[in-house]
Amino acid sequence: MKAYIEEAEKVLLHTYNRYQLVLDKGEGVYLYDTEGKKYLDFCAGIAVFALGYGNQEYNNALKGQIDKVIHTSNYYYNVPTIEAAKKLTKAAGMDRVFFTNSGTEAVEGAIKAARKYAYLKDGKRDHEIIALEHSFHGRTMGALAVTGNPKYREAFEPLIGNVRFAKMNDWESVISQVNEKTCAILLETVQGEGGIHPSREEFLKKIRELCDERDILLILDEIQCGMGRCGTMFAWQKYGIRPDIMTTAKALGCGIPVGAFLMTEKIANASLVPGDHGTTYGGNPLAGAAINKVLDLFEANNIIENVNSVGNYLKEQLELLAEKYEVILERRGEGLMQGLEFACPVGPYIKRAMEHGLILINAGEKIIRFIPPLIIEKKHVDEMICILSVCLEEEKEK
Ligand SMILES: *Cc1c(COP(=O)(O)O)cnc(C)c1O
Repeated sequence: MKAYIEEAEKVLLHTYNRYQLVLDKGEGVYLYDTEGKKYLDFCAGIAVFALGYGNQEYNNALKGQIDKVIHTSNYYYNVPTIEAAKKLTKAAGMDRVFFTNSGTEAVEGAIKAARKYAYLKDGKRDHEIIALEHSFHGRTMGALAVTGNPKYREAFEPLIGNVRFAKMNDWESVISQVNEKTCAILLETVQGEGGIHPSREEFLKKIRELCDERDILLILDEIQCGMGRCGTMFAWQKYGIRPDIMTTAKALGCGIPVGAFLMTEKIANASLVPGDHGTTYGGNPLAGAAINKVLDLFEANNIIENVNSVGNYLKEQLELLAEKYEVILERRGEGLMQGLEFACPVGPYIKRAMEHGLILINAGEKIIRFIPPLIIEKKHVDEMICILSVCLEEEKEK
């Protein structure tokens, strides 16, 4: 492994401080490094690999499509992507979809649609977007502009302008920034990278009402919290509201790089038209085949029921851990998207866990994030808690 890492550090652009681990293969909820060591995976490639590793049905669907045709461009139609669009709009309760290659591109598309919608109404070019502090929406210039972490933005400014930041679950901070230029309010239904902060039902409902009253678009970023992770197909579905535009990615392709932004018919009819937006790869037949199979397997394998039962168990077990160890301040989150906030940086705990064969990730300096494959079982939660307890004891004794 050391040799691989040395080679990597000579050629890869140094944009990550990676863990000293070279992963080689996966099986179910376990990953193996190049030396054959086994790891229980509570990261799932950052909330991507929902179905676990080596799902034969998924793999065969991809192989079949590779042998037929991988790419044709968006000048033509292709069947897998038509099917994927039907299934995804149905699962999301939205009307129309545009497929992208990543999450950040889905956010770019959502922003463009919102600006176009406002532009068609009044012809002005100074519309504003309200986003939230501690949000994460991606690394391209538009998505970065609405990401509520000044450290990520600063060196790359000027980004797209006219973005204001409000606070999660703080109605005053939102309403005080709304004006006649506001074209959209954009938020993650449950903030991921920013530390696992769920939005409250009344907060979302008030924003929805405000948006209806003022013809402002509500954009929900479901790239991390969606696709069943919080116990419904998309996290907003349990709040009895519907966004005007939403984004998804990560688990949507379960490893094939895909994303999407979806919208209601009303917005679709009054925003982007031919020539306004495009992508070479987005929604190609291979991506379509992946999304299709993922959505089929979600249903066939009762993924969402599993998230609810195992998610509740995870919640109980994390609560117990938080009671037992003073260093843990709080548990947050829903379903299989949960976090423990520590009183200190969590890096040392994550390193130790890796030595003991458990892959965890952080969300900010002091939060461990639990975003396992959605097929995990209670016994895997037990295994994780057992290893994490050992790490907590070892750090205590240090
Ligand atoms: C990961 C993430 C993105 C960016 O997705 P990429 O595929 O990395 O571009 C955007 N929004 C949220 C909420 C995310 O978690």
